[in-house]
Amino acid sequence: MALRAIVVDGDDILRKKSKEVKKFGERTHTLLDDMWETMRDANGVGLAAPQVGVLRRAVVIDVTDPERDDDDEGATPGGGDSAANAAAASDSANAAANAADAANAATADDAANGGAAAPRADVPDDLPVNAPGGFLYELLNPTIVEADGESLEKEGCLSVPGIVGLVRRPERVTVKAVGRDGGEITVKGEGILAKALSHEIDHLEGVLFTDIAEETEKLGRRASEDEEEYE
Ligand SMILES: [Zn+2]
Repeated sequence: MALRAIVVDGDDILRKKSKEVKKFGERTHTLLDDMWETMRDANGVGLAAPQVGVLRRAVVIDVTDPERDDDDEGATPGGGDSAANAAAASDSANAAANAADAANAATADDAANGGAAAPRADVPDDLPVNAPGGFLYELLNPTIVEADGESLEKEGCLSVPGIVGLVRRPERVTVKAVGRDGGEITVKGEGILAKALSHEIDHLEGVLFTDIAEETEKLGRRASEDEEEYE
């Protein structure tokens, strides 16, 4: 496995439509493995292949930590206590540099830019993937086949650091997809899982949450304004 660089808003690749995955061999498996590693390193809830520069319909989702619900994909990128974040990002960048080989040197920058907290060490590795009612999903060619209810909640994105927004999403979705070996999967998601599924599937269409958010807010700027007030 290897960390991959997370593409940020402004790069055209995030605006393109991803292609269907038709081969389920080593190349696809490596992509998924790298996406898991990259998402965890960035403390994310979800990651879609275009976010690592690959226009394929592949997503990974980890909803083990309900604390991150408000931030959806990211750990308040660039937000909150900026000094603590800078320290964490620097740790994370060092870890990334150590973990990655020379070919992946860009990931160190990326971790620093993403302002992500240190990678979570508390995610159990033995949780099942794609289990009904589970927390971890890796989906190829996912499509929402049913959606109902509505929720308006804050979310963020590893590719849009420093911004959160209020986004209206279905409260429940049913998604059909295939797993890494091409077997069909149906996922029923509610709450944070529904939101993550919907957010990641949007990435495959070139849509970012900021396109559909009803309000957005810059985290870094607000944090520094708050700091000035208290100084
Ligand atoms: Zn995203």
